[in-house]
Amino acid sequence: MASLDPEDWSGLRVLGHRMLDDMIDHLAELRDGPVWQPMPQALRQDLHAPLPREAGDPEAAYEAFRRLVLPYATGNLHPRFMGWVHGGGNPVGMLAELLAGGLNANLGGRDHAPIEVERQVIAWAAEMVGFPPEASGLLVTGTSIANLIGVLVARTAALGPEVRREGVGAARLAAYTSAAAHGCISRAMDMAGFGSAALRLVPTDPDGRLHLPALTAMLAHDRAAGMRPFLLVGTAGSVDIGAVDDLSALATIARGAGMWFHADAAFGALAALSPRLKPLLHGIEEADSVAFDFHKWGQVPYDAGCILVRDRARQVATFGTDAAYLRREARGLAGGDIWPCDLGPDLSRGFRALKVWMTLQSYGADRIGQIVEQTCDLAQALAVRVDAEPELERMAPVALNIVCFRYRAGSGDLDRLNADIVADLQEAGIAAPSTTVLHGRLAIRAAVVNHRTQLDDVNALVAGVLEAGRCRARVGISSTAA
Ligand SMILES: *Cc1c(COP(=O)(O)O)cnc(C)c1O
Repeated sequence: MASLDPEDWSGLRVLGHRMLDDMIDHLAELRDGPVWQPMPQALRQDLHAPLPREAGDPEAAYEAFRRLVLPYATGNLHPRFMGWVHGGGNPVGMLAELLAGGLNANLGGRDHAPIEVERQVIAWAAEMVGFPPEASGLLVTGTSIANLIGVLVARTAALGPEVRREGVGAARLAAYTSAAAHGCISRAMDMAGFGSAALRLVPTDPDGRLHLPALTAMLAHDRAAGMRPFLLVGTAGSVDIGAVDDLSALATIARGAGMWFHADAAFGALAALSPRLKPLLHGIEEADSVAFDFHKWGQVPYDAGCILVRDRARQVATFGTDAAYLRREARGLAGGDIWPCDLGPDLSRGFRALKVWMTLQSYGADRIGQIVEQTCDLAQALAVRVDAEPELERMAPVALNIVCFRYRAGSGDLDRLNADIVADLQEAGIAAPSTTVLHGRLAIRAAVVNHRTQLDDVNALVAGVLEAGRCRARVGISSTAA
């Protein structure tokens, strides 16, 4: 008979122990290596092989991983990775992934312990943002999907469960969010059938927060034009500069206008674990739904997004299913009332909850909150360094952990120069900031998210930017002189 299990487990056991030792070494030593290195073209070719028909050694597959994959990964484990908003993962989370893979549980539904673990994690998440204990929720890939779920639940709240059969039709519904909101809100409106044009982008104030008077004016204007405002999305930690909307004021406006209030707190939600930063989120506890990621500031390995919905009935009304093959029974494995597949679009779902559950138990929520604070302190230190360097210019206020700045001492196209500086640092493996565009000008964007990042790393980023900038400025001057 053909099975995939070995007849003799000893070889696999040896291989497994080696993998574990190697990955622990990798974590222990990663500070000494480059942040990132581009994958050589010749090696990429090795990933264009035909479908393997014959059995090979798992040892050989592991060697291929060590040769082709391990050295050329994203780099987000490294303390000097500051690009985008990437979490650094954690060692216990890594081990939990092994356990989850071993169990191979399907958390779409049925009656088993892994689902209870997920419910526990959702209850912890609800407690973190100040939601009532009976709130419901789900772990998903990331905040992009969590926001989509938020929009879909808001859609049911506005149009009733019939919308699932009838579609949105000609309903003239409008949603509102800040111009600094993440692009996935617009995509969610698109995917939910409203069209991205039904999303109004409200201008921001100088701190990057949704401008409340502008929102009020837009609401009045749309109502007068026969539109029905149904959804307001607040941002807690904007992707560009880390700005936090006045969530309390937004909650009040949403309630007054009969709108669903959803908070995109992708990374900002975790600030709730820091007593010092928590007041910034004031009002998040009033939201109807909150989307956030454990894989960013929560340091849980990818992927681990989360949607919370205050009123479970709304979430069930949006996704509940009564397919015959998913029948619930009073007893046995098909027991349990509401299954996770009643709360979101996925049926088969992996055991994401385990790595969150084990991470939170092992380090404690306070420690995660301390790391969140630490990354904000490092961002402040970086801002101070930038402000003190005449060759550098800060380009946005620092509300949380993101610093946007640029090298301004060069002549010519400063956008090009700064994009080159960022690519230089990445390719040299020195640091990995990313870029963004603020008020039409390209900025170097450093988001300090990783628990491994220290003051030396932030200083190394500044030194690297200055060196690359001076070097490029010199080359630029000599080439124009020539
Ligand atoms: C990262 C981010 C998202 C998208 O989250 P994913 O987990 O990447 O899907 C949405 N909104 C904000 C504010 C973010 O920072």
